[in-house]
Amino acid sequence: MSRRKFLKTSALGIGGILLAKCASGSDDITLEEKTVLTTITKPIVISTWNHGTAANKEAWKILSDGGNALDAVEAGVRVTESDATNRSVGLGGLPDREGKVTLDACIMNHENECGAVAFLQGIENPISVARKVMEETPHVMLVGKGAFDFAIEQGFEKRDLLTPEAKEAWLKWKESEAQKKPDINSENHDTIGMLAMDEVGNISGACTTSGWAYKLHGRVGDSPIIGAGLFVDNEVGGACATGMGEAVIRIAGSAIVVELMRQGKTPNEACKEAVKRIIKKHKEIKGLQVGFLAINKNGEVGGHSVFSGFNYAQKDNSTEELKDADYEMKR
Ligand code: ASP
Repeated sequence: MSRRKFLKTSALGIGGILLAKCASGSDDITLEEKTVLTTITKPIVISTWNHGTAANKEAWKILSDGGNALDAVEAGVRVTESDATNRSVGLGGLPDREGKVTLDACIMNHENECGAVAFLQGIENPISVARKVMEETPHVMLVGKGAFDFAIEQGFEKRDLLTPEAKEAWLKWKESEAQKKPDINSENHDTIGMLAMDEVGNISGACTTSGWAYKLHGRVGDSPIIGAGLFVDNEVGGACATGMGEAVIRIAGSAIVVELMRQGKTPNEACKEAVKRIIKKHKEIKGLQVGFLAINKNGEVGGHSVFSGFNYAQKDNSTEELKDADYEMKR
């Protein structure tokens, strides 16, 4: 094999090359290549944290029926957004320090098309607004009142997202010492990031959150930022992030994970490398939790976090499980 061809092969992964060959309708696929194709895990969906299990189930309904990855990730994360008992995404999410629930979300498909909303209030499913931004406008991101007005124009309904339980938690926080020093911990974060590869091998991703609980009014995290909270390159794979968004933005986290996979790293190795970069770039690491989740064109999956405790849900034809990600430090 020539050096050029070898480099290309290792960058895309053999699965990526064969899937591209299939998608282009090429009929010169050898028996050997067919064998490789059948070992690619697809369809498949993965998503962050425990709430990923229910979200994956919804996504799987679409994927297992031959549906596309974009529809699957949108439908999947909508489950978490609409779950009023979830304190970190959509309806029922913990508010900012002024008691306002402000939402961030983005979506990206296999053609590098993407849409995002940030600092959006009063709309239960920001991921669907992000998709509308992608499909109905020439833009990538709308924020605040502009995003809200656009959502209403697109037929979304206004809804009060601050549930009595979230309001009570916020009022309690206001009275507490904690409000003097906002911290990100297992109670006040947990974005859902979801990545799916469909039957034809196309990858899409979605990421949605109410962000860092009790944040400053106007704060936007990594979750709606393409390349930070989410990135997909259908030639290589996809990645998403959870945890302290500020740290993820500083290293362009999800884009870095995808680029590391392009250079030949497995999803697991790529996530680990990005986590190590975060650790290296921060003087104070205590309490700085970040987790990355990634998938490549072979349907291989990996996750890694700064501290222990990050997990993700996986669903494919032979697997339905919640996995603990690898980590650098024990909490
Ligand atoms: N990454 C999200 C943010 O910074 C929060 C989280 O995932 O926990 O807004």
